[in-house]
Amino acid sequence: MSIAENIARVRDRIANTARRAGRDPREVSLMAVCKTMPADRIREAYEASQRLFGENRVQEFQSKHATLSAGSPTEASAAVCDVFDIAKAEFHLIGHLQSNKAAKAVALFQAVDSVDSLKLAERLNAAAAQIKRRLPILIEINIGGEEAKTGLAPDAAELRALLQAAPRLANLEFRGLMTVPPFTEDPEGARPFFRRLRKLREELAALRMPQVGLQELSMGMSHDFEAAIEEGSTCVRVGTAIFGERVHRP
Ligand SMILES: *Cc1c(COP(=O)(O)O)cnc(C)c1O
Repeated sequence: MSIAENIARVRDRIANTARRAGRDPREVSLMAVCKTMPADRIREAYEASQRLFGENRVQEFQSKHATLSAGSPTEASAAVCDVFDIAKAEFHLIGHLQSNKAAKAVALFQAVDSVDSLKLAERLNAAAAQIKRRLPILIEINIGGEEAKTGLAPDAAELRALLQAAPRLANLEFRGLMTVPPFTEDPEGARPFFRRLRKLREELAALRMPQVGLQELSMGMSHDFEAAIEEGSTCVRVGTAIFGERVHRP
């Protein structure tokens, strides 16, 4: 199966699931997670009309970004067809970010979907202010309370402190929550965690905190995105089902 065919299939599944759940398929965006994939594969996905991409490492994307920029059309006339144009693609960071790489991330990514501390939010805000940008962010929640995972606990004081800081962090646009639930073979195993994230969003939204938007729920990956859509996901992050298995690197 080609990347184009995979994308078409995933889009069909998203639309069918949304409709079955009584939702408008346009409420659910598809993010193609291209970590470990070479620039060629990203171009191929773009040619299949994919525009939203997720990467989980700053360093890795930095070199890909250079490759992709080099191949992008520079003249308006060249951009009429579906050739890759990095200016028309949107890349989000979805992996853990160290605060000392905040400036680099702000320069490279359109959004950071994995903000997991107040300190990181402050660094991102400062970096965004420096280049006069407003950076959309999602707060990552460790919904399963797993030791090995990043993300703020649903009941963490720091989560409340981060949301309360929103008016002060004026160069950040708070858009919602993101999570990676504990892995289970059966996608149904993830459902209670998706439900819990949606409930958390509702609880936090009820607090009506100024400058805090919570409309986005980024949840669902290749093996469980249908359950995530049924539970209210607005963005599914799909890697393997689009690009195939990743080669595991040490
Ligand atoms: C790798 C990754 C994905 C995609 O996982 P697949 O199972 O390949 O679809 C989604 N979200 C995050 C945060 C990831 O790191």
